[in-house]
Amino acid sequence: QGFSEEQKQYLSAFMWGSDLARSARGLPTFAGTLGPANETDSSTSGSFDYDAFGPEAMHRRAQDQVEAGGGKLCKEEKAKRDKDPFGMWGEMRANAQQGVFPKGTDVFLYKYYGLFHVAPAQDSFMCRLRFPGGLLNAHQANEVARLARDYGGNYVHVTTRANLQIREIGPKHTLDVLTGLQNAGIINKGSGADNIRNVTGSATAGIDAEELIDTRPLSNEMHHYILNHRELYGLPRKFNIAFDGGGSISTLEETNDIAFAAVRVPEGKSIPAGIYFRMGLGGITGHKDFARDTGILLEPDQCVPAAVAVLKTFIEHGDRTDRNKARLKYVLDRWGFEKFLSESEKHLPFAWPKFPLEQCEPRRQPVRMAHLGVHRQKQEGKVYLGVVLPVGKLETDQLEGLATIANRYGSGMLRLTVWQNLLIPDINESDVPDVQEALEDLGLDCSPTSIRAGLVACTGNTGCKFAASNTKGQAMILAEHLETSLNVDQPLNIHLTGCHHSCAQHYIGDIGMLATKVESSDGEELIEGYRVFVGGGYGADEGIGRELFPELPFDEIPGRLESLLKVYMQRRDSDDESFRD
Ligand code: SF4
Repeated sequence: QGFSEEQKQYLSAFMWGSDLARSARGLPTFAGTLGPANETDSSTSGSFDYDAFGPEAMHRRAQDQVEAGGGKLCKEEKAKRDKDPFGMWGEMRANAQQGVFPKGTDVFLYKYYGLFHVAPAQDSFMCRLRFPGGLLNAHQANEVARLARDYGGNYVHVTTRANLQIREIGPKHTLDVLTGLQNAGIINKGSGADNIRNVTGSATAGIDAEELIDTRPLSNEMHHYILNHRELYGLPRKFNIAFDGGGSISTLEETNDIAFAAVRVPEGKSIPAGIYFRMGLGGITGHKDFARDTGILLEPDQCVPAAVAVLKTFIEHGDRTDRNKARLKYVLDRWGFEKFLSESEKHLPFAWPKFPLEQCEPRRQPVRMAHLGVHRQKQEGKVYLGVVLPVGKLETDQLEGLATIANRYGSGMLRLTVWQNLLIPDINESDVPDVQEALEDLGLDCSPTSIRAGLVACTGNTGCKFAASNTKGQAMILAEHLETSLNVDQPLNIHLTGCHHSCAQHYIGDIGMLATKVESSDGEELIEGYRVFVGGGYGADEGIGRELFPELPFDEIPGRLESLLKVYMQRRDSDDESFRD
């Protein structure tokens, strides 16, 4: 959009790392800094100077910086240097044949393949997949279900990155799962460890009458760029990227390290009117920070090169000595935006395009319940159904059933959302009753209460060693209690997280719960409990929850929240005053 033929060629050349593109524009080339040394395309030719400019060189320079600063690499960084994580297939095969788990830092390196040995919570592997923009087709859904049934615990989890996890995989079957996924076109390289996680995009991209732009091409392009650039693996820490097209369902892009948020620039400004992306950086809500606007406004085609420039800067300058300070936020805190952007511009085939946020049209607020229920698409006569998956768990026969529904009534596609549920798009309006009946036969439905619609829970202590509580199980108990004792008529987000890693983003919930061990009433033992926060939000209501109860045993929480919500409903000024207000 809006690019001349010359610019398009130039950008497309950049996508393959060519210096030709830069020299054609009179910009300094990568030679002597990072990337290929000359115009030769590193991805398609054998003459790339790997020693000087390849992934090893980039990471070696990062290590040099650590040493120059007198720091000591942390053990995960040493592990990455001692052994190429992507050179472990033979070892993994031998381990699988013997039915043994990896040992020492190999446990960490297996995560490059998305394989997490989650002992002691479960003495098995969890495998995290990748679906750019949360999109999967019915064939892929069937294959995931088959793999989870044959080699896992017969269920999958839908995650808050619009992704799937297969759990309870025995040590003999790691390669069966990985090869099965790859045969189905699901390439999950780098879905764990210090890598770029599943790229998210708007769940209603391309079917949403309200959206500003279809984000599917961008999430897909970003995904494939990552998969095909080895140097983008082995970051200082994990990294999240999201594209929000301005549609009905929020992508929660501000919780990502890079947040691309579509905006409209109206007529009469210094740049052509149209749809662009604001670039925000540094989101990490577990550390109480949202991505902040950088002042940069990008053409859609500039987003992937921009993300790559940010990533390369992070690779070279992120902290590799302290895991707690290794995320992008800490480089930004240390340097400030100005220095970071100036440094990252060296990796960019254009100057950062700045444009004031105030001159863009205000973004439309997403619709809080749009991920559930029946909603019209922009295509005449078509609707999508948002299926309720309380806390994101799906049995394999349910996943297969959803694939069958998608094939029979839709376009053979399913869309995962960051709200731990999924959409079935492209249904004829006249088929809705049949689809609802088919969902009921699977034990599913698409008409939630206000409580279940916004219920999000991380894996918890039944599957994650970091968890202090059984988040998913207790989320269901809590929902049951609140649904039977109250009739909350406003959408309400309740997020339960098992530890400070904040996979369920407790700080942005209307009610957020962070698991902790608390003393029992007789003081004899430590039992499962939570710190409770209220008033978090996202989008225009962005905010970090305030702590209401420092620690409560879980048993007391359903009653306390019932009282809290009763007071809210009695004292609010109007029926549409939100809980957060
Ligand atoms: Fe595990 Fe903590 Fe993430 Fe929950 S928040 S899944 S306990 S790492």
